[in-house]
Amino acid sequence: MEAKFKVPRERIPWFPTINYDACIHDRECLEFCKNGVFDWDEALGVPIVSHPYNCVVGCDACAKICPAEAISFPPMDEFRVTLRKLIADLNREAEQARRQEAVTESR
Ligand code: SF4
Repeated sequence: MEAKFKVPRERIPWFPTINYDACIHDRECLEFCKNGVFDWDEALGVPIVSHPYNCVVGCDACAKICPAEAISFPPMDEFRVTLRKLIADLNREAEQARRQEAVTESR
């Protein structure tokens, strides 16, 4: 079935996770990412994923440039399964909305 909606970015669980035990606090990720995904926590002296949904779905470039290998993303196989489930959920929600609308219009 063809999807007739745009998947809201906030429902797509794709963004970096930082392993603070491995992080060497060199700010590479902060300087590298042009989408503003990271900020620097001055008090703690660590990067934080402050805007996770600015992350481009499928991009894992910051994980590749991190010299400490402190950044990870969901495994792609797992992520594909998650996406299929998300699309099925959204199709179901859209179908329920269509049925509700049809019931409302018929009254
Ligand atoms: S690039 Fe890696 S090691 Fe450097 S601050 Fe970011 S997470 Fe930490």
